[in-house]
Amino acid sequence: MPTIEMTPEQLQELLARAVGAAVDKAVAAAKAMNPLEQKRYNEEVDMETRKAALREAVSRDKERTRNARRNCTHSRDNIGKYVAKGTGVWTTSGQLHADDTISLLCLRCQMTWVFKSAPWERELFHTGEHGLLGLTPPADDRLLNRDAA
Ligand SMILES: [Zn+2]
Repeated sequence: MPTIEMTPEQLQELLARAVGAAVDKAVAAAKAMNPLEQKRYNEEVDMETRKAALREAVSRDKERTRNARRNCTHSRDNIGKYVAKGTGVWTTSGQLHADDTISLLCLRCQMTWVFKSAPWERELFHTGEHGLLGLTPPADDRLLNRDAA
């Protein structure tokens, strides 16, 4: 029978390596997901990826809306073409609410101005042929909503 000679230190190192490899293998097996766990994990990752894409799309859409509002003059000429702000006809229409506030919005860019109505504006809403169509947007100091300023 052949014999192998080694020092106690060599034996110790060999044993340590063998035990270490076995422990590593056992830990990896314990950490590995079963097929069901793997499927749930993949679905979770997939959902997070789609959520991130959706957040990005929403953010791009908001930016587009902001730009449209920034560039809109809320004004048109007789045939509907953009004209400088406050010239021609306002492209606005609105609603008078029970609390006497008015929600006026630009029919082009959906910019919305919310403000306390004056008596003449309430009168216009109730008796005007076209309600608040074409009403001049209020001065900023009358605004009750922040996004229009
Ligand atoms: Zn507008």
